[in-house]
Amino acid sequence: MERSTIVRVHEGLHARPATRFVKLAKGFESDVELVKDGKAVSAKSSVKLMLLAVKENQEVTVRANGADAIEALEALIGYLENPRAGLDDEAEAQSAANDAGQEAAPASGSVPTAPDGANRLRGVAASEGFAIGPAFAHFPPDIAGRGRVLRAEEIEGEIDRFRTAVGAVQARMDHALAQDSLSAGDRGIVAALRDIAADDSLTGEAEGLIKGGNDAVSAVITAASTIAAEFSAVDDHYLNARADDVHAVGRQICLVLLGQDDISLENIPEGAILIADDIGAWDLARAPLKRIGGVVCGHGGATSHIAIIARSHGIPAVLGLGGQVNALRTAREVALDGNAGHVIIDPDAATRADFAGRVEAAAKERAGLTIFKTVTPTLADGRIIEVAANIGSLEEIEAAQEAGAMGIGLFRTELLFMRHMHLPSEDMQAETYAALAKAFAPYPVIVRTLDIGGDKPIAGIEFPDEENPFLGWRGIRMCLDRPDIFKRQLRALLRAAVHGNIKVMLPMVSDLSEVRQTRVLVDECTAELKAEGVPHATFDLGVMIETPAAVLIAPALAKEVAFFSIGTNDLTQYIMAADRLNPTVAKLNDVTNPAVMSAIEMTAKAGVAAGIMVGMCGEAAGRPDLIATFVKMGLTELSMSPASIQRAKKAIMAMAAEG
Ligand code: PEP
Ligand code: MG
Repeated sequence: MERSTIVRVHEGLHARPATRFVKLAKGFESDVELVKDGKAVSAKSSVKLMLLAVKENQEVTVRANGADAIEALEALIGYLENPRAGLDDEAEAQSAANDAGQEAAPASGSVPTAPDGANRLRGVAASEGFAIGPAFAHFPPDIAGRGRVLRAEEIEGEIDRFRTAVGAVQARMDHALAQDSLSAGDRGIVAALRDIAADDSLTGEAEGLIKGGNDAVSAVITAASTIAAEFSAVDDHYLNARADDVHAVGRQICLVLLGQDDISLENIPEGAILIADDIGAWDLARAPLKRIGGVVCGHGGATSHIAIIARSHGIPAVLGLGGQVNALRTAREVALDGNAGHVIIDPDAATRADFAGRVEAAAKERAGLTIFKTVTPTLADGRIIEVAANIGSLEEIEAAQEAGAMGIGLFRTELLFMRHMHLPSEDMQAETYAALAKAFAPYPVIVRTLDIGGDKPIAGIEFPDEENPFLGWRGIRMCLDRPDIFKRQLRALLRAAVHGNIKVMLPMVSDLSEVRQTRVLVDECTAELKAEGVPHATFDLGVMIETPAAVLIAPALAKEVAFFSIGTNDLTQYIMAADRLNPTVAKLNDVTNPAVMSAIEMTAKAGVAAGIMVGMCGEAAGRPDLIATFVKMGLTELSMSPASIQRAKKAIMAMAAEG
């Protein structure tokens, strides 16, 4: 027995809707399947259901076979057509207001060891502010199976061991879900993990492998990789992110099997200082950022993505400690100074009191700055200075709006490409850019076209091995050589421009021909969309000024583009010939060096003379000590981490008051 319908579930059959659908299906004895495009999956498996990637307005068929088939069809079709009716929503009922409440437990460990008996380490000041709190060391051990073929008589015992481990993981997740202190956001994450752990897709796959003679840990690792690869292959943001969830669940099961403890970021205590060798930007973006007091890492520099995310959430960070970070593995408490780039291991009473005072003063300052959220910074002559935000994902929109951003001055599109095991489709990109445009309209949203190179390879693009990736095939150079990728992005941007004030800028420009070739491609894309009858609109095209060559040809560039945005992060490294990620040359990597400041001034002059907008989106744009200088040079747009916005507005207003 079957019935077809059009899905009216707004988010598609994702996360909670998938869970609800499965819960409903499991209430019937009948076998129930959902069919889309000829592919049928069990309606009782949320993993399989999610992998079907059913979206709103798509046609699906529900098939039921059994004694209560009629009732099952009725209920499931009813849900797909009217998802709001009839179902409880425990998860949403929990208020996010319960966010707090986790008790800070110091990390266990013995007396710290620091190099040369010192307890003060120096790294790169990557995100300003002071913090003191319990150390939370995040050095996840690599997990490996025994890789031994089991004897036939061992298999049954291994399956029992595996099932017990799965049960323990499910119980742990159920326990977490029962805690009132869990925020709505965290609850959603845990619930999604619990669904995966309870679903027979992963467990069935793993059991099959154990029956084939694999030890349980090896089986779980392989099964998780197989299912994660399926999630990664779907052309859908949300589902791609589920691949990480599958790995996370697999890891939990392995840890129980190995009798090891979990040190996942989900468990970080309130106010703890996160210590790691490296943290993927995406891991950090999904971590409970509100609970993290500070970040200390062996890797990274002031403009690495960890630093950018930390700054956008106002989390003090010291990065680039190198091997010194190992001295913090056993620390109990850590104080960090994100302005000076210092980390203090197990501070004494006087240092503690000093840091506690600074943290309190910083909180007071932040509270005093909130009045600037709605201020439109205006100079004595009436010129408005746009203070915009730099972000790299839709998840950061809220932080930018909360801070009072007057639009987006730099949307880094790299994360969109890096999150996937394949290149994002035109539709997915168009949806993302349109969401941004809508969120900030009528303010502009400046989207930077893909700026990626061999140092940050992504799936779907073959990068050659290069001696100097920073001087190599990256940014606009790569895009122009791969019009298939570039045109997909340009078409998506033209489509998104219908929904708001989209502007587009090109990274790493060093020659006029790069702008001209881009224009040809934009014209081609426009003609194609017109011929296909796809709604689209024009956008302003600008360039980033971040190479010395661009500075030197700025007068010529200014005649061909609508705006400049100075990328001081790269401009500084290229002018000073000092790698922005290399802590040993951090001193040279200084935007206030006269060489860099004069490059900025030359750019501003060329832009102002040509009557185009000159903005800045490098990290220097958020420095209150430099803002007046930039504004006097003629910059009218400054784009920065959301956490810097209110202070920047204050600095501009102070400058305006001085006349
Ligand atoms: C810059 O180089 O200043 C910039 C804003 O771009 P990114 O930091 O992404 O290279
Ligand atoms: Mg750059």
